[in-house]
Amino acid sequence: MSDTDTSHVQVLVVGAGPAGLVAGITLAGYGINVLVVEKRTEISTLSRALVISTRSMEILRSWGLDDAVRAGAADVEPCGWVTHTLASGEGTEIPLGYPTAAQAAMVSPTRPAWAPQDHLEPLLLARLRAAASAEVRFASELVTLDQRADGVRALLRDRAAGRMHEVAALFVIGADGARSAVRAQLGIGMTGPDDLAEYHSVQFRAPLGPIVAGRRYGLNVITHPEAAGVLAPRGPQDRWQYAREWRPGQARLVDATEAQLAELIATAVGVPGLRPRIERVSAFSFAAQIADRYRDRRGFLVGDAAHRMTPRGGTGMNTAIHDAYDLAWKLAWVLRGWADPGLIATYEIERRPVGLHNVIRSGDPNGARQEVDEALPRDLNGRLAHRWLHRRDQTVSTLDLLGDGLTLLAGRDEPRWSKAATTLGARARLTIHVLDDATARGIGIQPGAAALFRPDGRQVRHWPRFTPRLRVGYPSLLHRGSA
Ligand SMILES: Cc1cc2nc3c(=O)[nH]c(=O)nc-3n(C[C@H](O)[C@H](O)[C@H](O)COP(=O)(O)OP(=O)(O)OC[C@H]3O[C@@H](n4cnc5c(N)ncnc54)[C@H](O)[C@@H]3O)c2cc1C
Repeated sequence: MSDTDTSHVQVLVVGAGPAGLVAGITLAGYGINVLVVEKRTEISTLSRALVISTRSMEILRSWGLDDAVRAGAADVEPCGWVTHTLASGEGTEIPLGYPTAAQAAMVSPTRPAWAPQDHLEPLLLARLRAAASAEVRFASELVTLDQRADGVRALLRDRAAGRMHEVAALFVIGADGARSAVRAQLGIGMTGPDDLAEYHSVQFRAPLGPIVAGRRYGLNVITHPEAAGVLAPRGPQDRWQYAREWRPGQARLVDATEAQLAELIATAVGVPGLRPRIERVSAFSFAAQIADRYRDRRGFLVGDAAHRMTPRGGTGMNTAIHDAYDLAWKLAWVLRGWADPGLIATYEIERRPVGLHNVIRSGDPNGARQEVDEALPRDLNGRLAHRWLHRRDQTVSTLDLLGDGLTLLAGRDEPRWSKAATTLGARARLTIHVLDDATARGIGIQPGAAALFRPDGRQVRHWPRFTPRLRVGYPSLLHRGSA
C-alpha cells in the first residue's frame, strides 16, 4: 500500500447499483454528507430488472423522476401471456401481481413502469450527482472495513490510480450486491440455496411491435417445444430479451453461435427467417438467500447484499430500493438529531421479514404468478392511503403532503391540533395539514381526528378525537424522554 490518506464523511455507501444510488439520494436529501463508492468505472450496462413497482415509482415520483422513467418504459399490460409463439395470437393471461393503469389509479398517484434497470440507473446517478452533500466515486473498491466505537474505517482501492485510500465514516451501508464485500467484512452469513437454476438470456433488437400489436404483455411465456422460454420487451423501442432455464443435456445459449441464437429467437417469435440483432448473451444462477442479520454495529446491508432473489416476481430491485430508502431516512434522522439511535434498529425489524418473504417466493417455481390483491398491499407496505386533493391551485396526492420529518394530518380543528402537536416534543421537522372532510375520511381520519405519519407514509399514531397532550408509543421517533 502506498499513499494512504484519510477522508471523513458521515455515511459511506459501498456500491452504486439501485440500492446504493437510492440510499445516497435519500441521505443527501437530508443534507447528510455521503460518499458512494463503486468498483466499476461506470454504472452497469446490464439491463437486468425490467419492472419498477408502484411503491418504487412513488419514491421516484417524489424526486421528480416519474416522466423520465416512463420515457424509457415499454407500453405493456403488466401481466404474463402464455403462448405457443409470440405471433400465435392465442394464449392465456397470467397475473404477475402488478396493477394495470386503472387498478393503480385507485390507490396511487403513479403506476408501475416496465422499464429496464439500465434505463433507471443513469437517472438515479444524475439525481445523486446533483445533490450538494453527495459525492460518487467510480473505480473505487472497498477492500477492508474496521469497526470502532465511534465509527468505521474503510480501506478503498482506487482502481484507476492503483493506490489505497482510507475513509472514516460514522456509518457504512453495504449496497455492494450479491457478493458483498461489506457483508464478508461484517462477518454476516447467508442462508438459503445459491444454485437453484442456471439461466441464460439473450438481449437482441428486432421490430416485434407489429407482431404483438394489441397484445403487448410484460412477459411472454413461450411454450413452443423447440424454443420454450420467456420473451420480454426491454424498453419502448425494439429491444427485447429471450431467456430460458438451462437443463442438463441442453446446449448453453452462451456457447451458441449468432446464427443459432437467431434461429431460436425466430422460432420463439414464430416468424421464420426473422433476423434479430444479437447484442448480448449472459448466464446467471438463481439464488434464494437472505443475510442472517442486516446489521453489525455501524454497518448495514441493503439490496442484494442482504438478500438474493431469483427474477421471479420482479422483487429483487424493488426490495433493494425500499430497503435503501428505509435505512437512509432513519440514519439521516439520527445524524440530524431528530431521533435517538434506537430508530435505526427498526431497519432490520421492518425490512428483513419483507426480504425473507420475497426470497422465499422467488424460490418457488410458480413464484412469479401472483394476484394483484395480494401483491400490491405488500408493495405499498402500509403507507398512507392515496387521495387526490386541491392545494394552492394544484392537484396533489395525500402522499405529497408528507414532509421529511413527521406529518400530522388532521380532520379539521387546526389551531387546536397545532397547539397539541407542540406537546409531542418531536425534534424532527413537524408538518401539519388540515384535510377537507372527504379526503380525511378517504384516508381513514374522521373529522375531529388526527394521525401522525413518518416520511415513508407509515402511520405512527392515530387519535380518534381531539387530545390536548399527544403521546406516541414509538419513543425512538421522538426526542428522548419527551413522549
Ligand atoms: C438477469 C436478471 C434479471 C433480473 N430481473 C429483475 C426483475 O425483473 N425485477 C427486479 O426487481 N429485479 C430483477 N433482478 C435483480 C436486480 O437486478 C437486483 O436485485 C438489483 O440490481 C439489486 O440492486 P443492488 O443495488 O442491491 O445491487 P447491484 O445492482 O448488484 O449493485 C451492487 C454494486 O456494488 C458494486 N460493488 C460490488 N462490490 C464492491 C466493492 N467491494 N466496492 C465497491 N463497489 C462494489 C457492484 O459493482 C455493483 O455496481 C434481476 C437480476 C438479474 C441478474
